[in-house]
Amino acid sequence: MSELKSIDKEYVAGTYNRFPVEIVSGKGSEVFDETGKRYIDMGSGIAVNSFGIADETWKNAVIEQLGKVQHMSNLYYTEPCARLAKLLCERTGMKKVFFCNSGAEANECAIKVARKYAAEKKGAEYSTVITLQNSFHGRTLTTLAATGQEHYHELFQPLTPGFVHTPANDADALIKLAKEQKTAAILMECVQGEGGVIALEKDFVQKIAAFAEEEDILLMIDEVQTGNGRSGALYAYMNFGITPDVVTTAKGIGGGLPLGAAMLGEKVQNVLGFGDHGSTFGGNPVACAGAISILERIDDALLADVCKKSDYIFSALKDAKGVRSVSGMGLMIGIETDRPAAEIVKTCMERGVLCLTAKAKVRLLPALNVPMDVLAEAIEIIKRACAEEE
Ligand SMILES: *Cc1c(COP(=O)(O)O)cnc(C)c1O
Repeated sequence: MSELKSIDKEYVAGTYNRFPVEIVSGKGSEVFDETGKRYIDMGSGIAVNSFGIADETWKNAVIEQLGKVQHMSNLYYTEPCARLAKLLCERTGMKKVFFCNSGAEANECAIKVARKYAAEKKGAEYSTVITLQNSFHGRTLTTLAATGQEHYHELFQPLTPGFVHTPANDADALIKLAKEQKTAAILMECVQGEGGVIALEKDFVQKIAAFAEEEDILLMIDEVQTGNGRSGALYAYMNFGITPDVVTTAKGIGGGLPLGAAMLGEKVQNVLGFGDHGSTFGGNPVACAGAISILERIDDALLADVCKKSDYIFSALKDAKGVRSVSGMGLMIGIETDRPAAEIVKTCMERGVLCLTAKAKVRLLPALNVPMDVLAEAIEIIKRACAEEE
């Protein structure tokens, strides 16, 4: 481990403050380091491993496709890409899908769609995209501009112009801003993930959806983290009773392989034409074959199970000692603690539970199929770590 650490430190760009743990294997929600120590994984590779580590069904789908054709580029038809697009449209009511490889790229596509749609319908000056303060939409220069957190912007000016931010849950402020600006679209997460696992108010989301519809401003929902069953619905917007024009997703859809998607609703389904956008790896058959095996299993029974486990976590932690509040939706949970979140995460890691942070909170993103007894074991350890004095 110490050799690996020093090679990594010497040769890998220093963008990540890694935990001092090397994971070498795992199964489901349990992973093992190089000494054989077991950890319960409450992070799922940041909401990516929807069915945990080395999930059999996903693995078999991936291996089967790997043995047929691993990549052909988008110059040719491949079956998994078309089948996944159909499945996504059938399950969401969206009309067309653009595939890419990450959340940031999915949002980039959404933003391009918004700019082109508005330019054609209202004029090229209608280019503003409104996003929320405390949001997170990615790390490219354009999605950084969309991200409503100044500290991400500081060192990378100038960012892509045309983005303005407004407070979450203040419909009047957003509507006022949208009318002042020449607005193409509103982009938001229904549950702000990196911002601290905070669900938007339903009333706010519905008001904004109605306003956007009325003004022919596109409503674009970033489901990169909230999507694919994580919130207890297939996509979190479904909990809010709205119909977005664009839904972006990534993370959990691929089950562990890089895959992103921008789903285009009725209004914008034909906005992108030949040559308007593209991606060499986008719609990769191996990633798509794995994704089909993930989506096919996110059915009503699984979603009910996600909600049941969510209720269990909320009720176990809500009034626990050292816990100030619990927020989030489904298996996307933020815990505000008396002790600093980073210390809780460290204590839990020593005791065999891997947790994440989001802002000042402890964040949990367990696999959707985490077994109840494994979940209970992890929550007990987290609870104890929260209750302890410094
Ligand atoms: C993680 C995340 C992104 C960025 O996804 P990448 O795959 O890292 O580019 C965008 N939006 C939200 C809401 C995210 O959680």
